[in-house]
Amino acid sequence: MMQMLLAPNPSPMTLDGTRTFIVGRARPVVIDPGPNDPRHLDAIERALGGIAPVAILLTHAHPDHADAAPPLAARTGAPVWTGGDGDEVHTDAGPLRAIATPGHTPDHLAFLWNRQLFAGDVFMGGSDTTLVAPPEGDLAAYLRTLDRVGGLPIDIILPAHGPAITDPAAAVERYRAHRHERIAQVVAAIRASGSTRPAEILDAVYGPTLHPALRPAAEGSLRAILTYLRNETEAPR
Ligand SMILES: [Zn+2]
Repeated sequence: MMQMLLAPNPSPMTLDGTRTFIVGRARPVVIDPGPNDPRHLDAIERALGGIAPVAILLTHAHPDHADAAPPLAARTGAPVWTGGDGDEVHTDAGPLRAIATPGHTPDHLAFLWNRQLFAGDVFMGGSDTTLVAPPEGDLAAYLRTLDRVGGLPIDIILPAHGPAITDPAAAVERYRAHRHERIAQVVAAIRASGSTRPAEILDAVYGPTLHPALRPAAEGSLRAILTYLRNETEAPR
């Protein structure tokens, strides 16, 4: 009743590629159709077996998740779903409920189905962190999202990148701990250097072994932490 198709778009930011999920058979939905790559679109169509999906669901609008939505809609006649938090989509395999999960992007959604959570980029399988960086990323919102996911009735988290997470509570705790550790490292680096310029504290936080391809993401993540700290300081207590 659930199929996973791995798109051919591996990279440091997408791990082994984007995972597209299909839930249902007679009235299926497609979650995150992925990049606009004809090979992947062909694979989705084959997996659907000539059935038009009741909807194409998107966790968020980033191109590695959403660029295939318009061509898949054109190929199959399926609508691109535009609902929000709490809305349900009905398949022959039961309903999926949208869960607002902002942080990676402001409008990020996850989809709850059958004690499983299609989590988009809230988690990266096999990792303990995901990208939260400006202009779209918001660390305070992301930490609230981790709290919300921690309270959901789920046994499995299915990220859009990396393998399934079979210990949701432990994963939420790990992601939360990782982020708080980074926040503490940034506070310490600011104290030690007297600077709040991301480029100047990047090495102190991430160390000399940071992969060059991940440097922009690390700097973005630092900026999100600096914004978070600034807002925390200014917030009334
Ligand atoms: Zn994304």
